[in-house]
Amino acid sequence: MLDTSVDKITKIGPSYKNRLNNLNISTLEDLLYHFPVRYENFTEKRELNSLAAGEKVSVEGSVLQIKTIRTKFGKFLTFATISDGKGTIECVWFNQPYINRIVKNGQKLGLSGKVDYFNGKIALISPEYEFINPNKLPIHTHGLIPIYPETRGVSSKWLRSKIKLLLDEKGIKNFEILPAGIINKYKLGNWYESMKNIHFPANIKLANTARKRFAFEEFFLIQLAAMMRKAKWQSRQKTDPFKVDQEKIMGFIADLPFPLTRAQNKVIKEIIVDLKGTKPMNRLLQGDVGSGKTVVAAIISLITYLNGRDVLFMAPTEILAKQHLQTLESLLSPYGIKVGLQTGSKKTKDKPNLLVGTHALIFSKTLPKSIGLIIIDEQHRFGVEQRSLLRNKGVVSHFLTMSATPIPRTMALTLYGDLDLSVIDELPAGRKRVKTFVVPREKRDGAYNFIREHVRKGNQVFIICPLIEPSETLVSVKNATEEWKKLSSEVFPEYSVDLLHGRLKEKEKDLVVKRFKAGESNILVSTPVVEVGIDIPNATIMMIEASERFGLAQLHQIRGRVGRSSDQSYCLLFTENDSPEILARLKNMEKKHVGLDLAELDLKIRGPGQLYGTAQHGLPTLKVANLSDSELIEKTRKEAIRVLKSDPLLKHNDYLKKRLVGKPVSPD
Ligand code: ADP
Ligand code: MG
Repeated sequence: MLDTSVDKITKIGPSYKNRLNNLNISTLEDLLYHFPVRYENFTEKRELNSLAAGEKVSVEGSVLQIKTIRTKFGKFLTFATISDGKGTIECVWFNQPYINRIVKNGQKLGLSGKVDYFNGKIALISPEYEFINPNKLPIHTHGLIPIYPETRGVSSKWLRSKIKLLLDEKGIKNFEILPAGIINKYKLGNWYESMKNIHFPANIKLANTARKRFAFEEFFLIQLAAMMRKAKWQSRQKTDPFKVDQEKIMGFIADLPFPLTRAQNKVIKEIIVDLKGTKPMNRLLQGDVGSGKTVVAAIISLITYLNGRDVLFMAPTEILAKQHLQTLESLLSPYGIKVGLQTGSKKTKDKPNLLVGTHALIFSKTLPKSIGLIIIDEQHRFGVEQRSLLRNKGVVSHFLTMSATPIPRTMALTLYGDLDLSVIDELPAGRKRVKTFVVPREKRDGAYNFIREHVRKGNQVFIICPLIEPSETLVSVKNATEEWKKLSSEVFPEYSVDLLHGRLKEKEKDLVVKRFKAGESNILVSTPVVEVGIDIPNATIMMIEASERFGLAQLHQIRGRVGRSSDQSYCLLFTENDSPEILARLKNMEKKHVGLDLAELDLKIRGPGQLYGTAQHGLPTLKVANLSDSELIEKTRKEAIRVLKSDPLLKHNDYLKKRLVGKPVSPD
C-alpha cells in the first residue's frame, strides 16, 4: 500500500499533491520517509502562573473567551484567554481571524510558542494550538515536535497531521523491509516502531535509535541495488574482445605534445584489460580537475575505432560538448576518425565514428549502429537513471564514466558499487599550484589592479558571480548581468569583458566561449555554470565572488579552470561575510590543493549535504545516513553481499525488492 499515490489519503487534493512534488513526495512511502530535520523541545508542560517573558513553552488550558478585533490599519487581531485553573494567559494571533471560527469558548487547547509582552501584558504570541481530546495525544504542542523540510504552502504542522494520520493506518503496522536476521543481529528497531519514533519520539534517545535503523536501511538498500546492477551487467551478453594494436596506440601516444603521466598510463592499462575481456566494461575514471582524463578517453576511443566500433561521448553541457568535439577532432581526425556533434539543437556529419553530445543523446533516434564504447564525462551531472537509460538502449558496449568529483574511495565504492574504479592520482608535471588568496574587502581595488596588470601582459581572467541557487535561475542571471555591466563600464572600461550564463542563446554562448578561447575577450564574467570542465590554458586568474556560498570541493573545481599552463595562476576569493568560521574555512583554499583533501574537509565542516548536494552531483539523496560513517558502510556492505549470495534476485525478500524497484537506487 505504501506505493499508493499520496493524494489517496484524506484531504490531499491536487494542489497539495503538486506542492508535495517540490519535496519529492509522491507516494505514501515518500511521505513517511520525509523525516524531520530536528525536534522542537516542548516536553515540559508548564503551569500558566509560572510563565515569564522570553520563554518558549508548552501549556494546556480551557478557553475562557476568544474575540477578534480589527485595528485601525485594517489588521485582524485574535485574542484568547486561557485558564488552567491556577492561572490565566492571553494568546494573540495576527491576521488569522479564522481561528476565531475554529476555537470556541470552553474548549480545551494545547498551546506552544513564545511568551512575550503584548500591550504591556505577558502573552503567548502566535502560539501553535490544537484541541485536547482524551483519545488523542497532542502532536503539535506537547512533546518533541518534529520540524520538517518545508515548501511553499506545506508547513510542518500540515506534514505532522498527515504523517500522524498515516501512522495510525492499520495496514502499515506489520510492514518491514529488512530481513529479520539483520534486525536481530544489529539490534535495530522494527520498521513501524522506528517510523513512529523518528516522527513522534517520546524522547531523543528513541529518535536517535530510529535514525540509526533508517541509516542502516538506507546504506543497505543503496549497496544492494548497486550490487544487483553489477550482477545484471555482468550477466549480460558477452562482447567480442577488442584487439589492441600496440604499435598504433604507442604511435598515437608518442605524437601527443606531452608525455603521459604515470597515473594516466596506469588507468589506460586498467581500461585495456577490460576492453580485451569478454564482459562489457563498466568503470568509473576518477581524476582531479586538470589531471588529463580527456586524452585517456581519446586513446580508448581510438582503440574502439580500430576495432570497427563507434563511440558515444556524453558531456553535461553544450559548451563542454563543443570543447570536447574540438579536442577530440584535433587528436583523432589524423587517424581517420570522423567526430560528430549532437546537442539539443545541433547535429553535424551523418555518420561519425565518434559522436559527442549532451544528454540529448539519450533520446536520440539516430545513434550510430555499432556502438562499442560509451563515455560519460563529469558524471556527477548525470543521474543513475540516465546512465541506465543509455545502457538499456540495447547496445552491448563498454561504459566509461569520468568524474572529477573528489570522493573518497570507500564512498565511491558505496555509491557506485556497480562500477569498477580507476583513479588518476597525479597532475601532469610542471603544473604550478594556483596561488590562492582570501581577499579582504578593503583590498578589492588592489585586486582589480592586479587583474589589470595581468591582462596588460596578455593573460585572461574569469570572474565568477555568486552562487545564488543550485541551478541557473533568472535571479542568478540578473545578478551576473549587473556585475558584468559594472565591470565592463566602470572597472575595466579599457578591456573587453564578456558575459556568460546558462540562459544565453546557444549561438551567443558559442560566440562568447569562442571569443574567450581565441583571446579576443580579456575577462569572462560568468555564473557558476563554467564550473565544469572548460579548458582555457591562457586564463591565469580566477576571481570568485561570495565564495562562502560554495563548498570547498566546488571551489577547487572552479579554481581548476586556471593553472592549466606553465604560467603562474591565481585564485582570488572574495566574501561579504566576515565571520571567523567562514574565513577560516575559506583559508583552507590557500593551503590545500588536492581535491580529495578539500572534499574531506567539507565533509568535516559542513557535512555531506553540502559537498554531495545531490542536485549538483547526481548522487542519491541521503536522508539519514552519513557518508562519513565508514563503519556503517562496511557493515551494510557485508550484509548486502550476504543477502544476495543466498537470494540473488531477492525472490524471497519481496519487501526489499519492492522497495528497490523504480527508485533512484533501482537495480535496473
Ligand atoms: P580533466 O581531467 O579535468 O578533464 P583535461 O583532460 O581537460 O583535464 O586536461 C587538462 C589539460 O591538461 C589539457 O589542456 C590537456 O591537454 C593537458 N594534459 C593532459 N595530459 C597531460 C600530460 N600528461 N601532460 C601535460 N599536459 C596534459
Ligand atoms: Mg574534463
